[in-house]
Amino acid sequence: MFKGLVSNKMPEKVLDLFLQMNIQPDHIIQTILFTACAQVANARTKDIGRKLLQQMPQHFHKNNILLTSALNMLMKFGDIENAEKLFQTMKNKDVITYDAMMKGEFVMNIYQIFNKLYLGYVDNKMCEKALDLFEQIPFPLHNVGYIIIFNACAQLLNDRANPSERKDIGRKLLQQIPQHFHNDNVILTSALDMLMKFGDVENAENLFKMIENKDIITYGAMMKGYVENKMCDKALDLFEKMSLYPNNVIYIIVFNACAQLLNDRAKKIGRKLLDQMPQHFYDDHVLLTSTIDMLMKFGDIESGEKLFRTIRNKNLVTYTVIMNGYNINNKPLKCLQLLEEIKQQNFILDEFVLSILINACARHSMLSKCQSIVDQIPSHLWKNQRILNSLIYMWGKAGSIENAQKIFLSINNPDVITYNSMIYVYGLNRMGLEAIDLYRKMPDYLHNEVTHVCVLNACSHSGLLDEARSIFNEISQKSAQIIATMIDCLSRLFIFDQAQNLIDDYEKSNSPSPVMYMAILSGARNSRQHILSQKIYDRMEILFPNEKETLKSGSILLGNTYLSIDDSEQAENVRSNRIKELGTKIKPGVSWTEFNGEIFEFTANDRSHPRSEEIHAKAKYISDVLMKHGHKYDASWITRPLREDETIASVLCSHSERLAIAYHFLQQENPSFIQITKNLRVCGDCHRTTKLIAKIWQCKIIVRDANCIHHCSPDGTCSCQDHF
Ligand SMILES: [Zn+2]
Ligand SMILES: [Zn+2]
Repeated sequence: MFKGLVSNKMPEKVLDLFLQMNIQPDHIIQTILFTACAQVANARTKDIGRKLLQQMPQHFHKNNILLTSALNMLMKFGDIENAEKLFQTMKNKDVITYDAMMKGEFVMNIYQIFNKLYLGYVDNKMCEKALDLFEQIPFPLHNVGYIIIFNACAQLLNDRANPSERKDIGRKLLQQIPQHFHNDNVILTSALDMLMKFGDVENAENLFKMIENKDIITYGAMMKGYVENKMCDKALDLFEKMSLYPNNVIYIIVFNACAQLLNDRAKKIGRKLLDQMPQHFYDDHVLLTSTIDMLMKFGDIESGEKLFRTIRNKNLVTYTVIMNGYNINNKPLKCLQLLEEIKQQNFILDEFVLSILINACARHSMLSKCQSIVDQIPSHLWKNQRILNSLIYMWGKAGSIENAQKIFLSINNPDVITYNSMIYVYGLNRMGLEAIDLYRKMPDYLHNEVTHVCVLNACSHSGLLDEARSIFNEISQKSAQIIATMIDCLSRLFIFDQAQNLIDDYEKSNSPSPVMYMAILSGARNSRQHILSQKIYDRMEILFPNEKETLKSGSILLGNTYLSIDDSEQAENVRSNRIKELGTKIKPGVSWTEFNGEIFEFTANDRSHPRSEEIHAKAKYISDVLMKHGHKYDASWITRPLREDETIASVLCSHSERLAIAYHFLQQENPSFIQITKNLRVCGDCHRTTKLIAKIWQCKIIVRDANCIHHCSPDGTCSCQDHF
C-alpha cells in the first residue's frame, strides 16, 4: 500500500496514512517513509523525516538500504553535515550508497565524501574495492582523490591482483590529471611513488624532471623508488645532486641504499652522512635502527654496538637488527648472548627474532644450543612455516638429519623453501640419493633455480654423476648458477674437458661467470694439475679484473696447486703477486666447539683464550702422538712463507679446528665425542689428522666446514670418503 502510493508520486498521502496509524514502522516501511520525505522535502516532511531518523531503533542502523534512503533524504534536505555523519557510520558501503550520495546537489561535499570513502578502503587495505568504486562511478577525481587512487594502484601491485590492469588505471589517470594540478607537488609525488612501485623507473624519472619546485618529499619518493627497484647507485647519485638539507626520511633511505650497495662509495657516503647527523635525529628510533643495520653490514661491529648501547628504549626490532648484523659478521655467539637481555625486558619472541636465533644456531651448529633454542619456541609458532623451514636448515647444518626429517614430516603443506631446505641438508650430509628421491617427489611446479642447484650439489658431493647428468638435461632453463654446479660436479671427478665444454657453450650467448671458473680451479687443485690451474687463473684475471675477492680465492687455490707438486718457488710467486695486486686481507678461519653446554670460539693461531698456553701445548702433544703413528705434515696447505720461529707442523697445528680439538683434550683425557664447526673449508692436512685422532683415541668427531659435514669414525674413516 505505502509502496504503491510512493511510486504513484503521492508521497504526502503516505505520510498522512502513517501518522494516522500511529504504529512502529518496520524497516521496509521506514525506507518508504524516508523516500517519501525526500520527495516532498518541505518544512513539514523535513520535520517528520528527522524525527523518524532520531527514533529509529538501533538494529536498523545495520541495514544499508534503509540507511541509504535516509542518506538520500538528508541530501535532499540539503543537510550535508548530517548526511556525512551518517555516511561515516555506515559499515558496508555499497553501490546504492554512493548513488544516493551522487544525487545530492553539493558537489564539493560529494568530492570530500568520495575521497573519504576511497581513503577508507585504502587505509583498510581494500585497495581493490577503492578501484572498483572508482571505475564504476562516472565522476572525475578531485585533488586528494588522485593521491588516494595512485596509492591504491601502487599498493595493489603487491597483492598481484591483475597487476597489468591496475597499472593501466594508474597510467591513464596520470595522463588525465588536469593542468591546474600540475603544480601540486603532493599529487605528483604520489604519482611518482606509484610509477616506481610499477617498476616504471623511466616514466617516474620523466615525471620527476617535470616537477618544478621539488621539495624534500619529492626527492625522498624518487630515492626510495630507486632503492625499491634495486638501483641504489642512482639513489646515491640523486642524493649527491640534491641541494636541500636532508631530513630524517632521507637519512633512512640513504642508509638503506648504502647498506645494500656495500661498495667503497656507499661506505664513504654513509659514514659521511652519519658524521653530519644532527643531534636531534638521535631520538628517531627508526633512523637509529637503520643506522645500526648499515654499520653492521659495513662490518663495523664496534660502531654498531656503540650506537645500540646508547638507545634507551630498545624495542624488539632494534634487537632483531643488531642480532642479524652479528650473524652477517659471523658472530653467532654474540647474537645468542642478546637473547638473555631480550628475556629480561619481557619481550615476547616473534618469528623474526626467532629466525635469527635459529640462524645463529645453524652457524655454530652445536647440538645442545640448537636444542635449547628449540625449547624456547612458543607453542603458537610451531605452525609457522618460516620457523619450521629454518629449523630444517639448522638441524641439517648441525648434522642431525633425523631432527630435520622430523620437522619436514610435521609440515602439512611443504612450500618450495621447505623442499629446498631439506634437499640442501641431504646434500650437505652426503645423502645424495635421498636428495634425488625428494626432488622427484616434489611437485614439478614448485621446482625453482635453488631446487636445481641444491639437488645437483647433492649429486656432486656424493659423486653421483649419472644422476646429476640426467637431472641437468631435464632442466629447461639453465641459469649460470645451475651450470656452475654441474661444472663443479664434473670437476670434482676431474672430467675437465666436459666442464670446459659447458663453459664454452654458456659463453656463446652470455658473459662469462666467475663461479664456473672457480669450480674448475678447485678440481684442478685436488687433482694437482698445475698447468690447467695456471691456464684457468690467467683467464680469470683477463675476464674478471674487478672481482677482487674471487681472484684472491682463485690465487690461493693456484698457489696450493703448486705447493701440492712441491714447486714452492712458483707458489711464492703467486703469493707475492696476489699481495701486490689484491692485498693481504683474507677471510680468517674460525672454529666453534661446545664443552659442558658452553660454546667456545677459536681463530687460527688464537691466543685470546685464558688457557691458550695450555691449549697450544696440548696441540703440540697431539701432533707428537700423530707423528709417532706415521703422520707426515703436508706443506702444500700452507699459504704463506714461514716466519723464523715457525715450522710446518706449528703452523698447521694452530689452524682453528686443531685448537678446538686440543681444547677438548685439555678438558678430558680421552673425549668420546667432539663437534666442531668451521666457517671455511678444512684443509687436507687437518682432514687427515682429524681422522687419525678419531682412530687413535677412539673418538667420534664431527666437523662441519663450509662445504660439507665430515663424520670421522673411530675406524679412521670419514663419511666424505675423502671426496671434499
Ligand atoms: Zn687445516
Ligand atoms: Zn671428510
